[in-house]
Parts: sequence; C-alpha cells; structure tokens
Amino acid sequence: MSIADSIREINNSLPDGVKLVAVSKFHPADAIKQAYNAGQRIFGESKVQEMTSKYEVLPKDIEWHFIGHLQTNKVKYIASFVSLIHGVDSYKLLKEIDKQAEKVGRKVKCLLQIHIAQEETKFGFSSEECIDMLENKLHTELNNIEICGLMAMASNTDCVVQIRKEFSGLKCLYDRLKQEYFSNSDSFKELSIGMSGDYEIAIEEGSTLVRIGSKIFGNREY
Ligand SMILES: *Cc1c(COP(=O)(O)O)cnc(C)c1O
Repeated sequence: MSIADSIREINNSLPDGVKLVAVSKFHPADAIKQAYNAGQRIFGESKVQEMTSKYEVLPKDIEWHFIGHLQTNKVKYIASFVSLIHGVDSYKLLKEIDKQAEKVGRKVKCLLQIHIAQEETKFGFSSEECIDMLENKLHTELNNIEICGLMAMASNTDCVVQIRKEFSGLKCLYDRLKQEYFSNSDSFKELSIGMSGDYEIAIEEGSTLVRIGSKIFGNREY
C-alpha cells in the first residue's frame, strides 16, 4: 500500500479523540511529503538533528512531535518549534525544557514518560518516581512548560494479555495523577500509547495519541 493510502486508512479507522502521530524517523523528507499531501500534519521523530533538518525543508504547518530520548544538551535545538515532547523522563530534563522555552518565548508541551515494559532498556519514570516528582510540586514552578499527559511503550512481545495489562495499568496511573495533581489543568488530557503492532489494543485502553511508523512508511533502514 502507498504511504498516502496507509495514512488515509489509519486516520479513517481511528475513533474520535484519537490522533495519529506518523512516525517518520529514518525516512526521507519526500516520504513525509507524501503523507502530508494525504492530509497528515503530525509527525514524530526520535533524533534531534534529523527533526531539525526535516523541519527546515518541510511545510511550516507540520506539528513536530519529539518521541525519542531527549538529551538535556539538545533541547535548545528544538525548543523554538517542537509541538509536543513525548519522552520527558526526569525533572532535570523538564527544567531544561522550561529554560529553553523561556528563551524563545514559548510554552512547550510535554508528556511524562512512564516505564511500563518488562525490558530494562526502555526509558521513563517508574510510577513511584513520577508521583514523587509531582508530590514535591517542583514542576509547578516551571511556567514555560505544560504537562499534557503520559507516554509509554509496552513490552516488545506478541502476548496481547501482557500488552493490555501494561496499557491498562498506565491508564489507571493516568486517571490517578489527573485527579490528584492536575484536576485544575485543562492541558492534562493525552495518553500517548500504541505503535504499529499494538495500537488497536492501546486505543481500547484509552490512548489519545497513537505513534505509528512502519505500518505507514515500511521498515526502517538503520
Ligand atoms: C519508532 C517508534 C515508534 C513507531 O514504531 P513502529 O513500530 O514503527 O510503529 C513509536 N514510538 C516510539 C517511541 C518510537 O521510537
């Protein structure tokens, strides 16, 4: 199937309230242009250098979502144009995003990444670390960031039961945090879960942002 057809098919299948982040990492600007011409506006990238070079050559109404592991020393390169940073996994990073956002006079939207997978290698706060940070209220002193919800990656497994369990646990945490720490916030409303292999389960468990790459663009060549 062509990139344009995949974009249309996936977008048509998504329920109201769920948005597609087309994960274009490792694919050229031309592939993004094909998706753009089919109406797609939100794209996800996982490398700072790659996202900034694509931003420079592609239409300015694209919403760029950073979905990778962001190093603090690289925040400055994307602060002026990024629409949403999905993978915030430390207070230190949140503070740096706040600092760089202030410099460019913006409020930068962020999601807190929670580690829900069995693999050790995936990034993110544990539930406890995340609650500790919010309990300390330090984030409320950062006026140039907006915490818009949570992001996570499920275990890399074919076991649907396991994946569903991880997603539904995350949804519980999301509901709890929303009630305890963000009840006055209009921004805290996003749950970024679901990739090519598991987005249908993620939607059933409450996803509002699905991050789909290979199902649209084909396999990546690293
Ligand atoms: C690469 C990536 C995706 C997309 O994965 P696919 O399996 O190609 O859909 C989604 N989320 C994150 C965080 C990624 O790094």
